[in-house]
Amino acid sequence: MRDPRPHSGEPPALDLLNTRWQGTEPGDLLTDLDGVRTWLTLLDLADRVPADPRTLAALRATRSALHDAVTRAEYAPLNRVLAHGRVRRELTEAGPREIPEVDDPAWLPGWLAADDLLRLLAAAPQRIRQCAHPDCVLFFYDTSKNGTRRWHSMATCGNRAKAARHYAKDRPVQNSSSSSR
Ligand SMILES: [Zn+2]
Repeated sequence: MRDPRPHSGEPPALDLLNTRWQGTEPGDLLTDLDGVRTWLTLLDLADRVPADPRTLAALRATRSALHDAVTRAEYAPLNRVLAHGRVRRELTEAGPREIPEVDDPAWLPGWLAADDLLRLLAAAPQRIRQCAHPDCVLFFYDTSKNGTRRWHSMATCGNRAKAARHYAKDRPVQNSSSSSR
């Protein structure tokens, strides 16, 4: 199975945000059921969640809610996602166990991603970043020692930015802020 995305391997919350990207086709993994299946397989959820239109809709709603929470401090949509599930705790022979419970399997991957965002926010909110390149919408969790990483990838966006700075020396400075949606 091929993952067409330019960047993967972030924590689930950011990995879901990174199902949209700029620059290469198709630019969005969550447009059809094949893409849903790919993402579920990558997150190891394919055996628990059907790759059907309801899961696709739930994932797209969750992605939008994550985006609102991370980029606009708008939390109501995220809380609506979180309202679909809860964690049940129990003690077993193997030790304490946490079992996510959702009201509908279609919401499990979205709920897990939303729950993951809460975990990241509790640990180090300032390390949740969007790539600093103006043409890039990808997110990453900065695990560098000093927490000053700017690019989702030095090899692509970092070098592109360096080349652009070089090229821009003889040109007027332009406002490079771009919409991230
Ligand atoms: Zn980037």
